Amino acid sequence: MSNITVCARFRPLSSKERSNHGDSVCIHGIDNESFIFKDDKEENFKFGFDRVFYEKSEQAEVFEFLALPIVRDAFNGMNGTVITYGQTGAGKTFSMEGPSILACDEQKKGLLQRTVDELFDCMKYSDASVKFTIKLSMVEIYMEKVRDLFDLSRDNIQIKESRVQGILLSGATEIYVFNSAEALQSLASGISNRAVGETQMNMASSRSHCIYIFTVQQELTKEKRVKAGKLLLVDLAGSEKAEKTGAEGKVLEEAKTINKSLSALGNVINALTCGSPGKAFHIPYRDSKLTRILQDALGGNSKTALLCCCSPSTSNSAESLSTLRFGTRAKHINASPHAHCSEESNAKKHGVYEATKDESMERIL
Ligand code: ADP
Ligand code: MG
Repeated sequence: MSNITVCARFRPLSSKERSNHGDSVCIHGIDNESFIFKDDKEENFKFGFDRVFYEKSEQAEVFEFLALPIVRDAFNGMNGTVITYGQTGAGKTFSMEGPSILACDEQKKGLLQRTVDELFDCMKYSDASVKFTIKLSMVEIYMEKVRDLFDLSRDNIQIKESRVQGILLSGATEIYVFNSAEALQSLASGISNRAVGETQMNMASSRSHCIYIFTVQQELTKEKRVKAGKLLLVDLAGSEKAEKTGAEGKVLEEAKTINKSLSALGNVINALTCGSPGKAFHIPYRDSKLTRILQDALGGNSKTALLCCCSPSTSNSAESLSTLRFGTRAKHINASPHAHCSEESNAKKHGVYEATKDESMERIL
């Protein structure tokens, strides 16, 4: 049984994709857990995930399946992580924050607004003898530097590890928030700081990872004890191959460095899913800032959900296939890192390839 929930989400065709006559939809849904994917060579692949969200799916459905159990657990003192993965333009930020963090109608609210609403709702209905505090931090990883989005002068936040609290971002601003409106205002200020920093550094948000951290602390006054749950929401940089972005020279080198942290994430997932039985093996969390921050999320001390965002268009099928294979592989992470690879081959069955984790590893690493 995997300790990570993996879902796929297909956004609607964009107007550009719709007006391009060569483009069509490359997925054929079977049910809400599986679909057939046709690549650009007209080959069919069958994929299965914990849940598949097709173009008509609502933001509320995505939140309820993917994040709600994790948010409720964080409220009860456990750690949780929700990650959006996929190429630029696939719908990661839309899933995370909707079209806008503040000016957004109820239906379009993303994972962030719904998380905030749920946390304050839980607080409202909880035992009056428990004193809750919710703290918020926001950081961005760009070119292997962790930047505080609540204080741009803190542009090199260090990652530390504590035996009790796990991975910590030393010196990152923590804002106490007392209601949904305050929390959303703080998130909006972090998001706007992201844009300011970007212009200063001449970069685009698709090239950085953004991490939202909610810490829910409860003082159990009767038991005289404090417990805290940490909830990470992670909007990853675009997963497209650096060479395919058309970038050259310095920009290409930069894109490659950024992609390295996503390959490091792939390597950690690989190490967590492929171990020789009975042998201790190294999990390369320290190979990037991203994997170091996600160490608790991937290593078993956290409930984790991954949303693989894809375009439904044939013109993006190569990148979508790579995203779906990444998700397939992540599904094989076990709570115990001593899981091993299956010998399952990539047999072509009735014209349909079953996407196995072995196959996805080939492509990602
Ligand atoms: P990413 O963050 O992965 O680069 P975005 O979330 O910014 O991509 O999405 C790209 C565009 O597609 C945006 O204009 C966004 O509003 C739109 N979009 C993405 N997902 C959906 C969806 N599920 N429904 C409607 N529009 C979407
Ligand atoms: Mg984005």
